[in-house]
Amino acid sequence: MSNLEKINQFARRELSEDELYLFDVILCNNDIDRDCECFSEHALEQMQPLFIGKTGIFDHNPKSAGQTARIYDTELIRSPDLKTKDGRPLVSLKGHAYMLRTESNADFIREIDAGIKKEVSVACSAVKHSCSVCGADHLHADCHHIPGRYYGQQLCFTILDDVQDAYEWSFVAVPAQPAAGVTKHFAASGSASPDVSLQALLGELEQQTRAEVLALCRNQSQKPVSKALCFAAGKMNLYELVQFKKSLLEQEHSLADATVQLADFKQR
Ligand SMILES: [Zn+2]
Repeated sequence: MSNLEKINQFARRELSEDELYLFDVILCNNDIDRDCECFSEHALEQMQPLFIGKTGIFDHNPKSAGQTARIYDTELIRSPDLKTKDGRPLVSLKGHAYMLRTESNADFIREIDAGIKKEVSVACSAVKHSCSVCGADHLHADCHHIPGRYYGQQLCFTILDDVQDAYEWSFVAVPAQPAAGVTKHFAASGSASPDVSLQALLGELEQQTRAEVLALCRNQSQKPVSKALCFAAGKMNLYELVQFKKSLLEQEHSLADATVQLADFKQR
C-alpha cells in the first residue's frame, strides 16, 4: 500500500499528494526517562498498531488551534549502536505522520523543514509497572527498591508494560533543558472511551492518588498493617483511593492532635 493509500484510509475525502505534508516523529523509546521509567520493548511493539490513526495535537498554544496531524504508519527503529542509560540497545517507536498544508500550518511546517526539533508527548495506558530489580508490579504490590537508586550494579527503574491503549500524542514546547526530553502521561488502567483525553487525565489522577495513598500506607508504624494497606490500595479504583486517602489523613491528624495534647499535658 502506498503512503497516500494509507493516509486516505483516514481521510473524509480523497486527498492528493500536493495538499499533504508528511513528517516523522519519534513517539517514545525504551530508554529510562527523568521519572526513572521506561517502556519495555514489548510495550513499544504493542503501541505500534495502537498509534496508527491517532491524532496529534499542538501544545496549549491558542495560536495553534485547529492544527492537527495524524499517524498513518509506525515502525520500530532499532539502533544497535545507541544504548539506553542501563546499556540495552535503543529501540524507538517512530510515527509517520501527515497533516494538511494550510495557512495555519505553514509556520509549523517551516519549522520542521528547518530542522527545529519538536518534542512529542504520548498518552497511553500501561497497566504493568514493574520494578527493574525484583519485578514487583508497583500498581499492585510494593517493594523496597527506590527508582533512581543503585542496588549493587543494578539501577532501579520502573518498566512500563502491557499497553492497553494509546490515546493521543502531542507536540509540546521544546523544553529549556535538552535533557528534559520526551514527556508522557499514563492512565494506570483504561478501556476505550469516547472522551479519551478525559480518560487519560483521570488515569493520571488515579496514578497520582495511588502514589500518595501508598506513601501514607508506608507511614503506618506496624509493618504487617502497612503491607496489607499497600496491597489493598493497589487494587482500589480512583473513587476508593480518594476516600481512603481522606481517612488516612484524618487518622494522621488525630494522631498528631493526640500527641500535641499529650505534650500539653506533660508540660503542666
Ligand atoms: Zn523491587
